[in-house]
Amino acid sequence: MEYVNSVKIYRGSSMQRSTKIVATLGPASSSIERLTELVAAGVDVVRINFSHGKPEDHKQRVDILRAAAKVTGRTVGVMADLQGPKIRIGKFASGPVSIKAGQAFILDAACKLGDAGRVGLDYPELIDDVVAGDVLLLDDGRTVFDIEQVVGSEIFCRNRHDGELSNNKGINKQGGGLSAPALTAKDMADIKTAAMLKVDFVAVSFPKNGADMRQARALLHEAGSDALVIAKIERVEAVANLEDILHATDGIMVARGDLAVEVGDAAVPALQKKMIRMAREHNRFAITATQMMESMISSPVPTRAEVSDVANAVLDGTDAVMLSAETASGQYPVQAVEAMVRVCVAAEKSQEVKLDAYFLDQVFTRIDQSVAMAAIFTAFHLKVKAIAALTESGSTTLWMSRLNSGVPIYALTPRTRTRYRVSIFRDVFPLLTEYIDDDRDAMLWHAEETLIAAGAVEVGDLIVLTVGDSIGGAGGTNTMKLVRVGEYRRLASKT
Ligand code: PEP
Repeated sequence: MEYVNSVKIYRGSSMQRSTKIVATLGPASSSIERLTELVAAGVDVVRINFSHGKPEDHKQRVDILRAAAKVTGRTVGVMADLQGPKIRIGKFASGPVSIKAGQAFILDAACKLGDAGRVGLDYPELIDDVVAGDVLLLDDGRTVFDIEQVVGSEIFCRNRHDGELSNNKGINKQGGGLSAPALTAKDMADIKTAAMLKVDFVAVSFPKNGADMRQARALLHEAGSDALVIAKIERVEAVANLEDILHATDGIMVARGDLAVEVGDAAVPALQKKMIRMAREHNRFAITATQMMESMISSPVPTRAEVSDVANAVLDGTDAVMLSAETASGQYPVQAVEAMVRVCVAAEKSQEVKLDAYFLDQVFTRIDQSVAMAAIFTAFHLKVKAIAALTESGSTTLWMSRLNSGVPIYALTPRTRTRYRVSIFRDVFPLLTEYIDDDRDAMLWHAEETLIAAGAVEVGDLIVLTVGDSIGGAGGTNTMKLVRVGEYRRLASKT
């Protein structure tokens, strides 16, 4: 295997992988050596979890990541994941407490340090959001409290199962309905840090609707960032408002951890399929997250169930699969990425290549989008070797990649920012190219040579090429060409 430009080429095999891998950074993945290994193994985007660490820590990680990506010659995007209004219990005076099934327990907004019978709340407004009969799920549902009454600052609960509670465990309300706003004061400060770090993606935790996403984007713009925004779908309200959210966001994350607690775990697989399908139909990207290779936190091999889970997400059409604790704090971060690569490649190979038909009923009013659709349709029917999109913003490659054509899409662009962005789109591979002023043939020759050098095509291959007349302007794609690779080399040799 070798790296040419930013594309990973597995020589002598068809192991180019279409589904992207997002890896969460943490103590197990912060050294330059480890990050280089992770990137070399196939990480396409790193996730920095803003629930942990200070701005200096985030900056250090971004700097190390950029250095690691340079060593491997790969393009790796950076995602900042905002903490959001995670509602938590407070701390206990003397460590974890055991609670028996049937035991009474009080969540008390006025309590400073907890004991065996009560604990504080970091979100006192919870008192106003719950009534007797509601069910609270703590610690990702490991502890279930039935609310018996709410009096003053106290929520009187009855515990369902024997268990243990420790400091700062999260609280979800079954069925949703918590009034906490999506963006906290900490998130607003973190958005400024994310902008300063020039991250490529910002994930918003617990949005309820499109307005939450528009607010996050406006704050990013104010801070000088054009990062793509990702809505983490983990609230009941977000599921109900998915259409509204999709209009306001660039991508979604199927955040199965909190989502399973709010809607019930059994509802999640069907929701995952629906969300991914809807995201694609709205020209948005989707990431499938949480516990994908969970056992690899402490095991060098995944379970059969995990292998199936990753493969099924690929078959659902996800753009990316995400690793959380596996790469942040696990014992086998590199093996977890390698396992994901293996499973994604096998699942993609097994998938029937059938162009999605939904676009046939859609109305396109934009020239660039219509050209992108014509290109993918042509590429699919002529079974060309590749699509080469000379792109400024990456939009043409996003539109093309929403349809499952079986043809790799190369995003040829001089813009570093665009190469990072497209790193998360399924089937899209970023390549660095140059604009050559006022000489389109010279530029296309350069693009052709870049594709050959990357090992993406060979002389004689048929490819589909998209380009605009006005080179260097976003939204200018107005041409689709069918090209036999070598055509521009020949033309160049004559001049
Ligand atoms: C999730 O709940 O699945 C998730 C990705 O969110 P986080 O890990 O940030 O709590």
